[in-house]
Amino acid sequence: MTDDLELDAVVVGAGFSGLYALHVLRDRLGLSVRAIDRAGGVGGVWYWNRYPGARCDIESYSYSYSFSPDLQQEWRWSERFAGQPEILRYLEHVADRFDLRRDIVLDTRITSATWDDDRARWVLTTDIGDRLSARYLISGAGNLSEAATPELDGLDTFDGPVYSTARWPRGGVDFTGKRVAVIGTGSSGIQVIPHIAAQAAHLTVFQRTANYATPIGNGTLDPEFARLVKADYPNLRRRSRDNFAGLPFDLQSPSALAVSDHERSRVYQERWDQGGFRLFLDSYADLFFDEKANDTAAEFIRDRIRERVTDPATAELLCPTDHPYATKRPPLESGYYETYNRDTVELVDLRSSPIQRIIPRGIRTEGAAGTDHALDAIVLATGFDGFTGPLLRMGIRGRDGRSLREHWSDGPHTYLGLMTHGFPNLFTITGPQSPSQFYNHPLAAEDHVDWLADCISHLRERGVDRIEPSAEAEHRWGEHTDEVASGALLPRTDSWFMGSNVPGKPRALLIYLGGAPAYRRICADVAERGYQGFLFDGVPAAEGPGATV
Ligand code: NAP
Repeated sequence: MTDDLELDAVVVGAGFSGLYALHVLRDRLGLSVRAIDRAGGVGGVWYWNRYPGARCDIESYSYSYSFSPDLQQEWRWSERFAGQPEILRYLEHVADRFDLRRDIVLDTRITSATWDDDRARWVLTTDIGDRLSARYLISGAGNLSEAATPELDGLDTFDGPVYSTARWPRGGVDFTGKRVAVIGTGSSGIQVIPHIAAQAAHLTVFQRTANYATPIGNGTLDPEFARLVKADYPNLRRRSRDNFAGLPFDLQSPSALAVSDHERSRVYQERWDQGGFRLFLDSYADLFFDEKANDTAAEFIRDRIRERVTDPATAELLCPTDHPYATKRPPLESGYYETYNRDTVELVDLRSSPIQRIIPRGIRTEGAAGTDHALDAIVLATGFDGFTGPLLRMGIRGRDGRSLREHWSDGPHTYLGLMTHGFPNLFTITGPQSPSQFYNHPLAAEDHVDWLADCISHLRERGVDRIEPSAEAEHRWGEHTDEVASGALLPRTDSWFMGSNVPGKPRALLIYLGGAPAYRRICADVAERGYQGFLFDGVPAAEGPGATV
């Protein structure tokens, strides 16, 4: 990159969102664009999270781009749920196939982004000393790109290596003969644990909260199934976009409490056997709103855990009882529970025996079973500073020098999860207060990019230099987001959806829970009404109330 490069748009990130944004803005709109990523390659979350066992938890034919019929037909997934190496190969293929690499700058981090209102441009600096400016700043920085490092006393005194699932070494890690700890039993921990257990001399899992993991049901992709999918792709994508979470499911019934115990168990067992998110998203709608309904699914899962874990005391520790099912994102597993039947695997319950500190030789716990756990390596599977974390670390300053960190000091404020008042021309793909993690990510990213590309075309056709939501529209979107969530069980549980996994982070709902179809409709309505709720060069873009919600 050259000094003071002037561009139409800068895209942050080269994962699913960034690659598609670069493609659309450059090749559909004809803008000058660069995508900037701090990674050494494209792939985003799939570049960094290369721990053993990492794989998508939405079926690959669905967890993939829909924008190019040719790409859909050409690409062949080998497994039902592709592993990280295959997804990374797919994204590398996309970068090559659409000739994106020539406009991607790697190994470069944006250190500041400052809005220059006079020129209506974002001025960016990077950690390698580059300075560039762009009319539009498009964040495809993702929701899972800032690892959350737990505050563990003495971590820096540990004699052995400390790994993070979110920053796994490219060459892999050999745990043969080693005594290993995994801290964290979310989706990442539950995926990596069986793999480390199969290799290490001894594995100690440090669990703070037991999780409701259900079988992923992975396997080789049946060629006949793949052929049927490809023959029906347009319809499948349409059905997906009409589904709450962007998946081609349509068997959900309204209430778990409206059917007999026998029927409910049959449905749960069938979904359990089918694998994936069927049990979570394709059984009963009231699991998300009604505690009694939720209890039926929770108890079904606890019973399966008890069947699979030989030692009853360990099984009980693995049974979640302190939060409803699916109020943390439910992990999918392969052989996770059986891992605890190995003689070489031990489960430490951090509720009764919290970590006191990390010592040079291992981890010291206190409480009833307090002891020193001797270790050669520690693996942190402790999650992410999700949604807002990557945006707040970019040093973003909007109009009048106001920092995004200040504007979001009590949680994110956005309109549609896409834009923020006081931060003109900054678009956040799958940003906070959009469906994001509750919407199949490639489709969610495509929807946002298509929307913002149409919006930018609209602005350019009319000679508008600046767009931002009005303060009122932003306020009303926040109210609407809270109102939609008010009946749901999810906000009651501490999780990264609520920002409560990061000490000091404000507790606020970070996702829109109205579902993809409702959200898509709202975004389309806003555009159709002439970008209602937005200001064009400081003037309301459309007549009427400040927002559609
Ligand atoms: P996570 O769901 O936030 O889980 C983090 C785990 O670390 C939790 O068990 C948490 O316990 C524990 N933890 C955090 N800080 C700790 C501390 N100081 N001491 C002890 N334990 C601590 O993070 P994740 O597993 O990385 O998953 C995050 C998201 O990434 C998922 O929800 C999913 O959306 C995505 N993901 C997807 C896949 C996939 O299959 N495609 C795989 C991995 C991740 P508490 O619950 O008590 O806080």
